[in-house]
Amino acid sequence: MFVVNHQSISLMVHAIGMQKFMLDLVDRVLQSYVHWDEYDHQPRQACYYPQGVIELMPSSDHQWHGVKWINCHPENVKLGLPTIVGLGVWSSVSDGMPQMICDMTLLTAFRTAAATGVFLKYAQKRLLQNIMMIGLGAQSDFHALMLSVLFPNVKLFVYDIDLKAIEKFMKNTATMAIQVHVIDSVEMFVNQVDAVITLTAAKKKTAILESKWIKKPLVIAAVGGDSPGKTEIDPALIERSHVVVQFLEQTEKEGEIQNAKALKIHHLYQAVKSPIEELECPLIFDSVGFAIEDHAVMRYIWQMVQNYPQLVMKFFPDLHQQPKDLWQSIGWGGCE
Ligand code: NAD
Repeated sequence: MFVVNHQSISLMVHAIGMQKFMLDLVDRVLQSYVHWDEYDHQPRQACYYPQGVIELMPSSDHQWHGVKWINCHPENVKLGLPTIVGLGVWSSVSDGMPQMICDMTLLTAFRTAAATGVFLKYAQKRLLQNIMMIGLGAQSDFHALMLSVLFPNVKLFVYDIDLKAIEKFMKNTATMAIQVHVIDSVEMFVNQVDAVITLTAAKKKTAILESKWIKKPLVIAAVGGDSPGKTEIDPALIERSHVVVQFLEQTEKEGEIQNAKALKIHHLYQAVKSPIEELECPLIFDSVGFAIEDHAVMRYIWQMVQNYPQLVMKFFPDLHQQPKDLWQSIGWGGCE
């Protein structure tokens, strides 16, 4: 079994190139939804606390089982800690042997952006030239990378309540092939864009996008709301929108639709095969994060472990010759 830590993943991404890594990942997440029937699907198991949530997200096909442990503690930033940290375990189904433990903090940011990209590019038909992003924290730079590779001429309008987050975002995206404009009011600009991505973190029901502001059939990727009682979109907007879900059983509990009934629900796995036509009402991707997206990224990293073995560490000693002799693996000579 191998250990793929944050540094190993960073080195793999450097070896492949950021843009290619993101493009490959978008394709892999897309393929997971196209081949939906080949996976076992279940909602994630979550433990909720006043400060946040800790979740387990399993996913399996006939060959590989992946499970991600992940937290979300929005107040952590005040303690100098990230809102989200993740850890993955990847096992072969045939013998049940865990093959890899990997850091899922970076990979969650990549795969979440990839899932948003799958929705914006492959699940709907509206042409997107101007996009707004609200919330410029840890996930946002990865979303900007995704936009720069999938929508090369897009203009991006960005908003955050924290000036330091804006500064950080501008610095990290300075070399990306994307035009970025900082705005100081969502309400004032929202009808000038084709799409909005919401990426805010607060452990409460907020309305980052108010229904009364929106006068056009916007495409919205609502990514930040992903837990019971933690949402971002005005329920009145949901009520007059079509909504796309990853896995209804999970989204009903965790997504924006926990607060209101949508005009119509679409499933991402169907929309990627038959993209949603331009509508007269808003179209909202109620993204909560689904385990097959983590499966897609873990499968990709597992293939890279074969290509770059020098970048990873072994976790278990090799017991193949004497699988019952765990004692000897300690290497202890005997009792004193
Ligand atoms: P983060 O704490 O690093 O960043 C959140 C940003 O939102 C901060 O910069 C904060 O200032 C900003 N913000 C908060 N309230 C705002 C408001 N009213 N208007 C504008 N900006 C506001 O968090 P992160 O890691 O970037 O994650 C963002 C959110 O995405 C979290 O809520 C997280 O749970 C969610 N998330 C969802 C998925 C998914 O698959 N759907 C995956 C990962 C993270």
